Amino acid sequence: MSTMITEECINCGACEPECPNTAIYAGGVQYEFNGKMFDALSNDFYYIVPEKCTECVGHFDQEQCAAVCPVDCCVPDPNHVESEEVLYARAKTIHPEKEFGELGASTSHFRKG
Ligand code: SF4
Ligand code: SF4
Repeated sequence: MSTMITEECINCGACEPECPNTAIYAGGVQYEFNGKMFDALSNDFYYIVPEKCTECVGHFDQEQCAAVCPVDCCVPDPNHVESEEVLYARAKTIHPEKEFGELGASTSHFRKG
């Protein structure tokens, strides 16, 4: 599933630069997806584009937005439940130039003990 930002967001902006997939945008700011621009998904808070979020699979062992958020408002989105396989395929699609190795504990929160 993708990660979502709840209404508890205080708009501090700490999460945006941490996302390896450029999936986080400030409220009211248009987002880019597949070379096209789309209207903001939230006008009031930072938001995550589900089609660009991989729960950091392929990059890190935990969701980087959740790791830095001071108010713990980056949480799993129950409306976007996805498998590790789907998320990993998305990471590869978003970064066609990157050499991804086998997923492991350091590159997928699904593999953490
Ligand atoms: S979970 Fe990872 S990929 Fe998804 S929005 Fe947060 S930092 Fe970006
Ligand atoms: S780090 Fe948390 S509080 Fe700050 S902008 Fe991101 S979601 Fe909002």
